[in-house]
Amino acid sequence: MSSEASRPVPRPGILEIDAYVPGRSKAPAGVKLHKLSSNESPLGASPAAIEAFRAIADKLELYPDGSSTALREAIAAMHGLNPANIVCGNGSDDLLELITKAYIGPGDEGIYTEFGFLVYKIAILAAGGVPVVAKETDCTASVDAILEKVTPRTKVVFLANPNNPTGTYLTSSDVKRLQAGLPPHVLLVLDAAYAEYVRRNDYASGIELVSETENVVMTRTFSKIHGLAALRIGWMYGPAHVVDAINRIRGPFNVSAAAIAAGTEAIRDRAFIEQAVAHNNEWLEIVTREIEALGLKVTPSVANFVLIHFPEEKGRTAGDADEFLVARGLVLRQVSSYGLPQCLRMTIGTEEANRAVIAALKDFLSGAGS
Ligand SMILES: *Cc1c(COP(=O)(O)O)cnc(C)c1O
Repeated sequence: MSSEASRPVPRPGILEIDAYVPGRSKAPAGVKLHKLSSNESPLGASPAAIEAFRAIADKLELYPDGSSTALREAIAAMHGLNPANIVCGNGSDDLLELITKAYIGPGDEGIYTEFGFLVYKIAILAAGGVPVVAKETDCTASVDAILEKVTPRTKVVFLANPNNPTGTYLTSSDVKRLQAGLPPHVLLVLDAAYAEYVRRNDYASGIELVSETENVVMTRTFSKIHGLAALRIGWMYGPAHVVDAINRIRGPFNVSAAAIAAGTEAIRDRAFIEQAVAHNNEWLEIVTREIEALGLKVTPSVANFVLIHFPEEKGRTAGDADEFLVARGLVLRQVSSYGLPQCLRMTIGTEEANRAVIAALKDFLSGAGS
């Protein structure tokens, strides 16, 4: 017997994990809540997806299709892919964890960037791996900084592109340079959760790079543009050998029947997707411009949220602003856990919510009582 422990003890690394804290969703009693803390869609979900979800209520005794065939085929048709190279998951978090579990063992290193999505660190530690952080420049991932962190123990590099919570992105040529600089045994995971929102000619979600190489996978989600966060649907596109590994370890029914049905309709509803993109495009620009006009720095974002920087002066900090906004039912996201205590992240909301935040920040900065 190797252990003297008086009760079961988790594997090394597990207790180093700070559990992921989701965006808050409470406003004071009697105040209308605008939840802008989790990058959820202000437009809800496609009516066709909602109808498909309802229809499942009559068949709850049946196991779902364990291969999510209809969903994979609908995704493949939308993006011009081979459905055999797609795996669906219980949210893209599920896939990020499975990828980590498949490629990182005790002592192996996983790299992510300074302000990168926190799920990567959690997944690496949970697998017994060593999280390695690459510095960013101006809240943007740096290809050189990532490549400098590569060692013989490196197994996976995670890049959220665009990144949450910064909203910044790497161009497709930068991502290509990153892939080209990695040893062939290192898996590059491109987390493109916000790809649909990006309106830049020099951006690519990674589909091409996956097709052309053997060490890149791209993950996507139905939680953001499709407004289906409650259902937990994600997918990955990867080379056959990675797909094969993930299919061996995923839960046999890791996507629910309701998720398959609703997701299949959601991805076919192009008009709805375009509407969501147009709304975001319009309001991302207005929100950025108006908040900058108040004298606050906003990191340029290509996603459905903005990172707002506050002064470190007493009474005007991000924490003070958060308190002021919450009192008005405006719940943004504190991002201290990302090492950004001076910032709040605001999801682009409805017109009403966006205008309310702009007005409240104006009052906050001019010292009007809360
Ligand atoms: C929201 C988000 C996801 C999506 O996670 P789901 O599990 O699919 O809801 C993935 N990556 C990043 C960077 C995100 O911000």
